[in-house]
Amino acid sequence: MSEIFELTHQAAEIAFNDYQRWYQYISLYGNKISATDKTIYNHFYNIIRNEFMWSKRRCSECGALMYNNKEALCEGCTQEDNHFKALEAIAYMQNMKHYENDYEPEGFVSAKYLWLYGEDL
Ligand SMILES: [Zn+2]
Repeated sequence: MSEIFELTHQAAEIAFNDYQRWYQYISLYGNKISATDKTIYNHFYNIIRNEFMWSKRRCSECGALMYNNKEALCEGCTQEDNHFKALEAIAYMQNMKHYENDYEPEGFVSAKYLWLYGEDL
């Protein structure tokens, strides 16, 4: 709860206790929801999306509207970002391969060749 609503643990605990007391009250007194509760319900319930809205923000990359999403990027930008990171990792590994070859200790290349192919260079 504290993570979703970006509250401190203490504030989240107070809100959750309030909710529990409210729920108990509603259960005991026959589901009579007050006008205030109805207003809150209408404010947070999205009829079009058929769900409660706890977050509405824009993607930091493309600006698309995101509902009930804690991430900074939308789904499309996350996929693009992951693709880019994968390409970066491949480029890094290829670079490291060249780096390793350039800086292998003296005699290592011939020793490796001997080990792999059973004959000297
Ligand atoms: Zn985006």
